[in-house]
Amino acid sequence: MEQPKTLQSAIKHYSDEQVCIDAVASMRWPGGPTCPACGHKEHYYLKTQKRWKCRVCRKQFSVKVGSIFEDSPIPLQKWLPAIWLLTNCKNGVSSWEIHRALGVTQKTAWFMLHRIRLGMKENYGHGPMHKIGGPESEVEVDETFIGGHKKNMHRDKQVRYEAQGGASGKTIVQGILDRTARQVRAKVVPNVKRETLQTEILRQVKYGTQVYTDEAVAYEHGMQWRFVHDMVNKTETYVRGRVHVNGVENFWSLLKRGLKGTYVAVEPYHLDRYVDEQVYRFNNRGSREKPMDDYARFEKVLGQLAHKRLTYAELTGKTEEARTTTPQPF
Ligand SMILES: [Zn+2]
Repeated sequence: MEQPKTLQSAIKHYSDEQVCIDAVASMRWPGGPTCPACGHKEHYYLKTQKRWKCRVCRKQFSVKVGSIFEDSPIPLQKWLPAIWLLTNCKNGVSSWEIHRALGVTQKTAWFMLHRIRLGMKENYGHGPMHKIGGPESEVEVDETFIGGHKKNMHRDKQVRYEAQGGASGKTIVQGILDRTARQVRAKVVPNVKRETLQTEILRQVKYGTQVYTDEAVAYEHGMQWRFVHDMVNKTETYVRGRVHVNGVENFWSLLKRGLKGTYVAVEPYHLDRYVDEQVYRFNNRGSREKPMDDYARFEKVLGQLAHKRLTYAELTGKTEEARTTTPQPF
């Protein structure tokens, strides 16, 4: 079947529930549907119920079970265009836009977007195989401060303030960019203490990597034994050759554009998910020679939605259940 290329063709293409089920199933189970209860592949499809029935454990399962779609009353015909939008819009998509575009309540749209962000979250795995960098790579490490109200404070002061455990109201995000592979890893960190920042580098970056950071005190000691390390002073107006963190700063500007322009007020509690969202789009641009297209970015997420659950209660800290969020009748 032909792959949609634009949002318009995607909405048309995924207007049929069975087409949606087939699309999700083929990405979720590349080797054919597998019973989530017992792991067997012997089953038959109940066409009217759009579910599989396992011949081994006799249980029925849908394509939604055990994924970000579980318990959602929203049809896949709305979920898939929402995924298309969030994986492809450079600055993100607000819940108000989803509300208007797909005819779900803003609250439902907000919940859907958070579940999709969970789907976009990359599972890097553990161990040296899954790290970035390497002897041939150059890696930039930098932090940024989001929210709060000390905008005009010099960055050095901010860093020192945070290092001392100052409650500035800002949330700190650390970013690690492999320049060669054009892959970024970013996450919210609790502080800019040396131990915190270096632990993350050790966790994400391969031994022997050329690591560039700024002048932050947290990087000054302890790095040399593991990585060749160069520091760049961002207050200087020039860049010392290849020693800079401009690549990560480019990522920060993308992240901040989305946060300021589209999302406006993000609670620190949810910031990690917006970071995951931006990381996904950034890492799935493809290469300069061969950019990744919208369909590929969309389809890849369909393959990583399983084993991810996010209930409304988990998301909000409230007791209200996800299944009580129902779509508007228009
Ligand atoms: Zn089974």
